[in-house]
Amino acid sequence: MGGLLLSLSLFAQEGAGGNKVTALLRQMTLDEKIGQMTQVTLGVISKPEDGVLDPAALTKAVQEYKVGSILNVTNHALSVEQWHKVLTQIQDEAGRTRLKIPVVYGLDGIHGQTYTLDATLFPQSIGMAATRNPALAAALAKVTAKELRASGVRWNFAPVLDCGRQPLWSRFPETYGEDVYIGKTMGAAVIKAFEEDGLKTPTAVASCMKHYLAYSASRTGKDRTPIYLPETEMREYYLPQFRAAIKAGASTLMVNSGEINGTPVHASKYLLTDVLRKELGFQGVIVTDWEDIIRLHTRHNVAATPRAAVAMAINAGIDMSMVPMDFSFFVLLKEAVQKGEVPVSRIDDAVRRILLLKEKLGLFDNPYPEPAAAGNFGRPDYQTLALQAAHEAMTLLKNDDGALPLQRNVRVLVAGPSARSISALNGCWSYTWQGKDERWYPSNSKTIFDALSDKLGADKVTTTAVAGFDSPANYDTAALKGAAAGADAIVLCLGENAYAESPGNTSDLTLPEEQQALARVAAATGKPVILVLTEGRPRLITGIAPLMKGILQAYWSGRKTAEAVSDVLMGDYNPDGRLPYSYPRSMGEMVLYDRKPTEDIREIFNSDMTMDGYHPLFPFGWGLSYTRWDYGEPALNTNRLTAGNRLTVKITVTNSGKMDGNHTVELYTRQHYSSVTPSMRRLRAFKKIFLKAGQSQEVSFTLDGSDLAFVNAQLKTVTEPGDFDIYIGDKKAVFSYQ
Ligand code: BGC
Repeated sequence: MGGLLLSLSLFAQEGAGGNKVTALLRQMTLDEKIGQMTQVTLGVISKPEDGVLDPAALTKAVQEYKVGSILNVTNHALSVEQWHKVLTQIQDEAGRTRLKIPVVYGLDGIHGQTYTLDATLFPQSIGMAATRNPALAAALAKVTAKELRASGVRWNFAPVLDCGRQPLWSRFPETYGEDVYIGKTMGAAVIKAFEEDGLKTPTAVASCMKHYLAYSASRTGKDRTPIYLPETEMREYYLPQFRAAIKAGASTLMVNSGEINGTPVHASKYLLTDVLRKELGFQGVIVTDWEDIIRLHTRHNVAATPRAAVAMAINAGIDMSMVPMDFSFFVLLKEAVQKGEVPVSRIDDAVRRILLLKEKLGLFDNPYPEPAAAGNFGRPDYQTLALQAAHEAMTLLKNDDGALPLQRNVRVLVAGPSARSISALNGCWSYTWQGKDERWYPSNSKTIFDALSDKLGADKVTTTAVAGFDSPANYDTAALKGAAAGADAIVLCLGENAYAESPGNTSDLTLPEEQQALARVAAATGKPVILVLTEGRPRLITGIAPLMKGILQAYWSGRKTAEAVSDVLMGDYNPDGRLPYSYPRSMGEMVLYDRKPTEDIREIFNSDMTMDGYHPLFPFGWGLSYTRWDYGEPALNTNRLTAGNRLTVKITVTNSGKMDGNHTVELYTRQHYSSVTPSMRRLRAFKKIFLKAGQSQEVSFTLDGSDLAFVNAQLKTVTEPGDFDIYIGDKKAVFSYQ
């Protein structure tokens, strides 16, 4: 019955394209169907030179194995023209097959279109979370969609919806940080922006929410290592983002490469079919992550043979396999179907979804790069948006004695490994997978040293830094000490160079000692030191933070990071970013802001044995401004919220300082008692406002019972009656829910 309902509702959503797909499906052989479920990487059909296809390999893939989807690049980004050539050749080949079914091409446009040369790169999601500006995130997503589509690509493997609650994880920068509400709000805004114009339109792409589910929650923090997660926690912190994304219209989904409680997600019928399809109602295409079907056999050891791995994954609910290096999946799935290990009905179900995606994307009408889309590449206003996003991401963590903004006539020494690096400002998925190779960045990309020199004049800015994050000269403390003599202030640029996925694994978050040594030497000169952090995840700086006069968290904020940093340092932009995570003090103190009451206990027994409560170096939501923000008393329309009712909270916010600025007002709640231990704080809403110096504005929030819900021991999302606190800024109010 469940299956029937599922097919009926799928049918209802298909519209006219559904009939076409049904007719096509009827004509297809088993080989043609399995080919549609097969996705290979570009390397399989390329010559060693980048962007040059191997015609024989292409024919083999598309004609012999009937491959329905291709992804990725071989080594680095290609030009728009190269993409057009590649995609035209691929679609020409598909046009020569019996049924002429076009190929759907997918790429990772994670923070802008990664793999097209000169595409505009924006802040990573962690920086976008700091902006607390979903409308801005949506605007950037529209640009990403346009630049992908201009390149001829209609499927984007983004956004990442994994909740960043494990800062060791090497993919932390791709997340929206530790909070569920920010993650689901930003994620839904981005998905809507990718798809809302209608996928046939040259301004849209199909999104791919990923990586379902709880990929970010690995116990060790190492990429693709086991996750142990009670289902209450899974549903409380990791599922809501996907629920919201489905509502926002996500067309496709990619699966978590890891295992949860001993079951690889690619083999979990419970998560893929029962939860995702039946409970959440997802109708789109489910694609695996890289090589993850065969790994059920080769790595996870839950399938005794490669064919058993294929049958397990397809029966669990996978529609398309990112194989991606060979055609083994095609051969094995065919065998499995012939032996009755996978029902043909499951194959038909998967292929139908894939064909519907192609139909929705307009590929049957015209699979080629569209002239109307090509004009949308590299428009000048994208740079303006990139600068706005980088500005709004900048998060000022410390500013002692008004050290910032710097005086106009200051002489600055710019030092540290990221002072003359481009890659350390952009991070992962930047023209290459790892983002480290600066040869592929736009030639006019600026370093922090360049941007400060432009602003202050070359005679005012000196540096000990050289290009290349790892160059030994960048760690020369004696040179730094010597050069400081002629400067009024030191801007020290530390953090992380780019990395992506497993190569970014680390077993220690502590900022490397050689970088800390630079900070100590800089501070010892007696000059004020401003620390600029360019990093994808919080590296521990507890030892050096007290020595710094100012600390600016710049994240990896894309193309305009350097300009945004220099604007903030010089007071040309008033910072308004707010931390999307709790900046930890030490490896052993990883308490998150939405802590449970027992994590909040502070008991100092002796210097080594303490219960430190929630005591991060900088708390979630932290971010200083050059102006002062004052809050009036919150006014509630009622102190008793009931199921059919709404609670309106109004609060007056005043910019009582001297500088205009943006400011995000955040509303948190705490339930006093509930059947599952309540969190000490949960972010329920935020609003970003702009006020001129001296101006006030009333900000209003509306909540209903569902905004206060949590997952109970029976795995139901419920709101229980009880008393609640509301926190906005330094103000508090109380109400009850009945
Ligand atoms: C990543 C995915 C990505 C895929 C294709 C995998 O290694 O985990 O996020 O979409 O590669 O590039």
